[in-house]
Amino acid sequence: MTRRIDLKRIHTAHFGTMRAINRQIVLNYVRDRGPISRAEIARRTSLQRSTISEIVDTLLEEGLVEEVGAGASTGGRCPKLLALRASGAAAVGIDIAPTHTTVASCDLAGSVLERETFETHPDFEQTAARAVSAATRLIGKSPGKIEGIGVSLPGLVDPSTGRLIYVPYFNWRDLDVGRRIGVATGLKVAVDNDANAAALAELWFGRAEVSEARDFIMVFIAEGVGTGIIFDRQIYRGEGGAAGEFGHMVIGERAPVPCSCGGYDCWEAFASGRAAVARYAALVRDEEAGQLSFAQLIDRALDGEDEARAALIETARYLGRGISNLIVGFSPEIVVVGGAITRAWELVSGILEEAVKRSIRRDLPAPCLTPSTIGDEASLMGALSLVLADKFTTVAAI
Ligand SMILES: [Zn+2]
Repeated sequence: MTRRIDLKRIHTAHFGTMRAINRQIVLNYVRDRGPISRAEIARRTSLQRSTISEIVDTLLEEGLVEEVGAGASTGGRCPKLLALRASGAAAVGIDIAPTHTTVASCDLAGSVLERETFETHPDFEQTAARAVSAATRLIGKSPGKIEGIGVSLPGLVDPSTGRLIYVPYFNWRDLDVGRRIGVATGLKVAVDNDANAAALAELWFGRAEVSEARDFIMVFIAEGVGTGIIFDRQIYRGEGGAAGEFGHMVIGERAPVPCSCGGYDCWEAFASGRAAVARYAALVRDEEAGQLSFAQLIDRALDGEDEARAALIETARYLGRGISNLIVGFSPEIVVVGGAITRAWELVSGILEEAVKRSIRRDLPAPCLTPSTIGDEASLMGALSLVLADKFTTVAAI
């Protein structure tokens, strides 16, 4: 569903009918190489001019592409160039994070157009109702057709059914999020967890060093620790969508906070934002400091407060330990670190690099470690890319 089409390997595409495949080839050429003429697409693919014209007519009609002026003439008339529709929103993303929820709209190229943010309410129904009304406002403002809504959640979800299985932070269990939001908005809804969504965002909107990699791992640090695995350019989900739960790998004993599963030996209990805040509270000997959000702790560290820095650095040590285990097991090309911690990259990157270096076995290539190339809103972009990736890769019967 969410596989990104690799233009260099089109012959390996194996979904649906020939005609549907051709449509995706043309649409992805316009996305990746536009503005581009019909003739240029014909030259670069083995598709007939007539086939391309027919597909382009449909894409124009559906409002996915538009003509944007003329290219250089090669003798006859100047060819019209095609680009993705630039005006109006195409997708709405709802990023439900432990501290706040962001609802945003973006165009087909993934540029955010409008956004609203509010504090996430511990009662799911209240959060969902606010998210739906924000989404409805954004949809109402856009003249273009909205293709769908993507939802990113901080916990275990089943993307195939759109159900939330368990969000430990709020103790939300078994909720039909996709249906709840779909019925209220009348739009198609795609749901995934924050780490998978952030990984997908890197694949679709990240800088080339990440978006062109075949395999990479997203380590998403928020109040918890999540991982998203991109394997052969698609999200690796495993049985029942439960892959990537590395937050629960055993990394030590007597962590500063309990893991969301209750244990004190999980990676999340050592390396999450909650662990960092607990370390900070212990250092400043102030229980109330334990109520800070991870973002507030990062602000204090960036302001130069010693204890805040020390808490972050100690947390990064454990973060590095877990990353090093992932590298040993997966040998990915790249490890991307996402979430609020990327704002403090200067403070933590040295320690993380050290850990990566230690994990490289003899003669093996060193994986590259990078902060999210999208910034600290990777899960929001992920929610949006759930819709766009689907649009650009799903082969519907046409
Ligand atoms: Zn755990």
